[in-house]
Amino acid sequence: MTIVVKVGGASGNAVDPVLADLASRTDYVLVHGGSDAVDRLGTALGRPPQYFTSPSGVVSRRSDAAHLEVVVLALAGQVQTELVAALARRGVRALGLSGVDAGLLVARRKVGARAVVDGRVVHLTDDLAGTVERVDGDLLRTILGAGLVPVVGPPALTTDGEIVNVDADGVAAAVAATLGASALVLLTNVPGLLRDKNDPATLIPRVRPDEIDGVLPLAAGRMKKKLLAARDAVRSGVSRVVIASSNGEAPVRDALAGGGTVIG
Ligand code: ADP
Repeated sequence: MTIVVKVGGASGNAVDPVLADLASRTDYVLVHGGSDAVDRLGTALGRPPQYFTSPSGVVSRRSDAAHLEVVVLALAGQVQTELVAALARRGVRALGLSGVDAGLLVARRKVGARAVVDGRVVHLTDDLAGTVERVDGDLLRTILGAGLVPVVGPPALTTDGEIVNVDADGVAAAVAATLGASALVLLTNVPGLLRDKNDPATLIPRVRPDEIDGVLPLAAGRMKKKLLAARDAVRSGVSRVVIASSNGEAPVRDALAGGGTVIG
C-alpha cells in the first residue's frame, strides 16, 4: 500500500539517508517543502524572508507577490529538480510536479490572513497563500501505476487559476488522505514532538487521535503545522502519521517501525 513521505526543508535535515532508505520501494509519494532553500534564494535576490504569527500562534511565511516568486523558483525550480535528480542517481524514475501541474493541488486562497504585529492583530490582504482542498488522486495513481515516483511540492492552484503558496506538511496530509495511504511520514530536523523543544530526551512517543488538541500547546512555530497536518490526515482516515527525524541510517524504516512520535 502507498505511503507518503515528506522530507523537511529546514536546515539540519538530511535527504540522502531518506532517499537511500526509499530506494528499495516504489510505492510512495515524496512530498517536499524547502524553507531553507527559499530563505537562501530570497536573501540572494534581495528579498529576505519574512514570517508572521497568527493570533493562535502558528508561524507562516509571508507570501506577497514578490515572495511567492521566490517560493516558486526555489521549490518548483531548485528543490524539486534536485530531488528528482538525486532519485535518478539511485535508478529511480521520478516525476516532479508542483501543485500547479495538471491542477494536481487545488487550493482555496486564504483571504485576509491575520497576523499579530506589535501586539495588534492586522489583516494581510496581499498574501497569496492557500489551503489545499483537493488533490488529483487519479493523476498520482496513474503516475505510480506507470512505475514512476511522484515528487510533489508547493505551490498550488486556485479554481481561478491563481498560484498560491501552501504549507508542505498540509500538502503531504492531503495527498495521504486522498490516496488512503497506509502511513504518512513527516521527516524533520528533530526526533519528533518534544515536550521541551530543546531536549530530544523529552520525545513524546505516542499521541492518540483524541490527544492531539491537548499536545498542540507544546508545539511552537512550525511544529504546530505538523500537528495540524497530522490531525487532518488522521481525521481523513490515514491510520498512522509519524513525525520523525530525517537523520539516521534508515529514517523511513525507523519511522514506520515506531521511531519518532506516532500519531493515530
Ligand atoms: P521541517 O522543514 O523539517 O519540516 P520545521 O522547521 O517546519 O521543519 O519544523 C521543525 C521545527 O519545529 C524544529 O526544528 C523545532 O525547532 C520546532 N519545534 C517547535 N516546538 C517543538 C516541539 N514541541 N517539539 C519538536 N520541535 C518543535
